[in-house]
Amino acid sequence: MTDQLIDKLTSLAKRRGFVFPSSEIYGGAGATWDFGPLGVELKNNLKRSWWRAMTQLRDDIVGIDAAILMHPRVWEASGHVENFTDPLVECASCKHRYRLDELPDGDGSGPCPHCGLRKLGEPRRFNLMFKTFVGPVEDTASVAWLRPETAQGIFVNFENVQQATRRRLPFGIAQIGKAFRNEITPGNFIFRSREFEQMELQYFCRPDAAAGLFTEWKRIRMAWHESIGVPASHLRFRDHRDDERAHYAAAATDIEFQFPFGWKELEGIHNRGDYDLRRHAECSGKDLTYFDDVRNERYLPNVVETSVGADRSAFAVLCAAYDEEPDKEGTRVVLRLHSDLAPHKVAVLPLSKKPELSALSREVHAALRPHFMTTYDETQAIGRRYRRQDEVGTPLCVTVDFESLVDRQVTVRERDSMAQVRLAIEDLVPALREKFGP
Ligand code: ATP
Repeated sequence: MTDQLIDKLTSLAKRRGFVFPSSEIYGGAGATWDFGPLGVELKNNLKRSWWRAMTQLRDDIVGIDAAILMHPRVWEASGHVENFTDPLVECASCKHRYRLDELPDGDGSGPCPHCGLRKLGEPRRFNLMFKTFVGPVEDTASVAWLRPETAQGIFVNFENVQQATRRRLPFGIAQIGKAFRNEITPGNFIFRSREFEQMELQYFCRPDAAAGLFTEWKRIRMAWHESIGVPASHLRFRDHRDDERAHYAAAATDIEFQFPFGWKELEGIHNRGDYDLRRHAECSGKDLTYFDDVRNERYLPNVVETSVGADRSAFAVLCAAYDEEPDKEGTRVVLRLHSDLAPHKVAVLPLSKKPELSALSREVHAALRPHFMTTYDETQAIGRRYRRQDEVGTPLCVTVDFESLVDRQVTVRERDSMAQVRLAIEDLVPALREKFGP
C-alpha cells in the first residue's frame, strides 16, 4: 500500500475537495496547490492546534502576523540574498534541471537521470527567493522579495513586541504565514511546493540558557506532533552533522516523518545563537540588545527556533490517517484523523428522504452546528453515506430514523469502531462536547 499511498491520497484529496492543483483549468501552475472545502478545514484545525499550544496555553509566548513584503535590506542582513541558494545543474541535451545534491552521484559527474547522456552542466547557484518590484518602476531601487520564511518578520519586530508586552526573557514570538520558495525540484504532492505556510516560533533567551531550551523545545515539538495523531513510530529526530549546519547555528535537528517516499524533514529546530539580532542590529544601526534588570546586564538575546510547514504537516497527518480495511462491499477507506483535525466533527444523516425525517434531521443539524462543524447528507443509501464520511475522517455520524420521530432518540455511529449507541436528541450536545472537548 505504501507505494500507492501518494496516488490514493492525491486522488482522494481531489475527488473529495481537500486539495486541488492550482489553476487546474489552465493546466496547473507548477507546484502550487489550492485547499478545497475540506482541506481548508483540516489546515485551519491544524494551525489552530499549533497556535493554541504555542500561545493560548503558554504564559511566555505571544503571536504576531507580519507583512509578507519587507524592506529589501532585511534579506541582505539575514544572508538570504547571498546564500539562500541551491546548486542547480541542467542537462544540455534534454534541458532537465536538478538540485546537485539530489543527483544519484551527488556531484553531477554521472549521466543525466532523465535522458542518460553525459551532458550535465556545471552547477550554478540559484537563489530560491521570488523577486518582485514595489511601485511602477522595475529598477534595483524598487526590488522586493516574497519572504522565503516567516522568521525575519519576528526578528525585526523583537523590540516592538518586547516593549509593547513588557516581556522579560525568556519569551517567544509565534507566527503563522505564507512563505514562497522558487524550488528547483518541487514535488511529492504538497510535500514541497513553491507557496506554502509556515508555523514558526522564535524563542528569545539568555545566551547561557539556549542549549537547555533547544533540548526542551525538541521534546515539546515532538509531543505536539504526537498529540495531533501522528504515531510516534513514524517520527524521529535527525541531528544535523557539523558540515550541514549553518555556520552560526550551535545545534540543529529535524523532526522527520516517515513519508511513503522515505524519512523526510517535517520540522526544523535550531539553536541560532545571537546571529539574527546581531545581523539586524549591524545592518539597521539599531541597538537590539536587551537589558536584563534581574542580572543587571545587557546582552543580545539568543534564539531557539522551531519551524514547521502547515501544508507538510497536513500531508503527514493525511498519510498517517489513511487506512483501508476489507468489508462486505469490498474495501472501507477510513481517514483515522484525530477529532481535533477532522474537517467535520459530525454528519447528520436522515435514514431516508421522507419529509418528516428531513424535518427532524434539519432540527438536529441546527442544534449541533453552532457547537461543532457539522455536515448534512441525505442522498443515496445509508451505508454509502457512512462510507463517504469515513473516507473524509468524520468521527461521528448521527442517523435519524423512523423511531426517532416517536422517541426523539438518534443513532450515533463512531467512525473507527463503527460502534453505535442511541442517544436522546436533547443529550447530543453535552455528549459530543465530552468527546470533542469545549
Ligand atoms: P528542505 O530541506 O525540505 O528544503 P528546509 O530545511 O529548507 O527544507 P526550513 O527552511 O527549515 O526547510 O523550513 C522549515 C519547514 O518549512 C520545513 O521543515 C518544512 O516543513 C517547511 N517547508 C520548507 N520548504 C517547503 C516547501 N517548499 N514546501 C512545503 N513546506 C516547506
